[in-house]
Amino acid sequence: MVKKMSEYRADFPILNQQVNDEPLVYLDNAATAQKPKAVVEALEHYYYHDNANVHRGVHTLAERATEQFEAVRGKVARFINAPSSQEIVYTKGTTEALNWVAASYGATNVKAGDEIVISYMEHHSNLVPWQQLAQKVGAVLKYIDITAEGELDLASAQQQITDKTAIVALTQASNVLGVINPIEKVAALAHQHGAVMVVDGAQSTPHIKVDVQQIGADFYAFSGHKLMAPTGIGVLWGKSELLAEMPPLEFGGEMIDWVQLQKTTFKAAPWKFEGGTQNIAGVIGLGAAIDYLSAIGMEKIAAHEQQLVKYLLPALLEIPGVTVYGPHDPAKHTGVISFNLDKLHPHDVATALDMEGVAVRAGHHCAQPLMERLNVAATARASLYLYNNLEDAQRLVTSLKATKEFFN
Ligand code: PLP
Repeated sequence: MVKKMSEYRADFPILNQQVNDEPLVYLDNAATAQKPKAVVEALEHYYYHDNANVHRGVHTLAERATEQFEAVRGKVARFINAPSSQEIVYTKGTTEALNWVAASYGATNVKAGDEIVISYMEHHSNLVPWQQLAQKVGAVLKYIDITAEGELDLASAQQQITDKTAIVALTQASNVLGVINPIEKVAALAHQHGAVMVVDGAQSTPHIKVDVQQIGADFYAFSGHKLMAPTGIGVLWGKSELLAEMPPLEFGGEMIDWVQLQKTTFKAAPWKFEGGTQNIAGVIGLGAAIDYLSAIGMEKIAAHEQQLVKYLLPALLEIPGVTVYGPHDPAKHTGVISFNLDKLHPHDVATALDMEGVAVRAGHHCAQPLMERLNVAATARASLYLYNNLEDAQRLVTSLKATKEFFN
């Protein structure tokens, strides 16, 4: 029987609690998502029944652990429509994945005078690694602008991406502006000019159906914890020909083929990147999270969030003194809504909301150049996921109105 979206909420015991004497409304999903029982149970099962190091033993537990660890690569590949499970590299998260592309692919392919193009809306994880690389090799870091509505400015992309561009790195969904970027168009531009397209999927993979081939990515990074898997596990997907030429960054056990006194050969990708004992439980939790999301269906999750945004965005905009950053058209908006209230500091707003049991984030959201571009020091941010409902959205609106009255 097809389950209704409202029925999935019961899979998240953490949501069933009072915070400051009010029922918890968790709206900080862009920071990290809550975990369904299925994920926690997969971890428990692994630790109670199958725990062993992978690739190292011939005993039964080691074989079971290895089989599950490797099987998740296939699940991830299907989830993002990657052509091969051998293109799936396990990382700690998006940050590590992007750092690896910069430090391995970037350091061997980007030369002095080349250009790296990113955008004003990048998270620091998709900004600082490129800035560091540019400084190291003498490349130039350029920024695609945003429009007045807070969308990616395609005319600016056209100007910034040139024959000098070696890498274009762009987020698929903004963690501040709540927009989905037209990666396909930017990737086409990048490829026209012979550049490689790197995509930060941290905020999109948990919420929409991702197809790395359709969008024209060459590298794609995402974090497990934002899609209901444990913290400390993420993925770097790269085209096999690119991964094949990239040098590993961490040397030691597991990633080697043959070690002699003065020389070592490495395994093929993805294993050459995975030095040392991996986050095996994290990988198994990632597999369980992908199973959970896939059973619901990413299209259904996206449609549910869109329904909530259709109510929430206009309701927030109707409150006098609320400024929303990013498009005001719900159809163009993801479940990430950044806002400010009057001249109040967003930390005060978030603290007041917390007193009402409503959890939102406040700060620069690891996007300081974007804050500067928007001419604000910080914002509050509410972000939705599949277990949120209309009542959660209404609680945010009423609590925000109460906050406004309290400070007036
Ligand atoms: N990119 C974006 C757009 C993000 O929102 C985040 C996390 O908030 C990251 C990258 C970094 O993810 P992680 O901290 O899981 O490595």
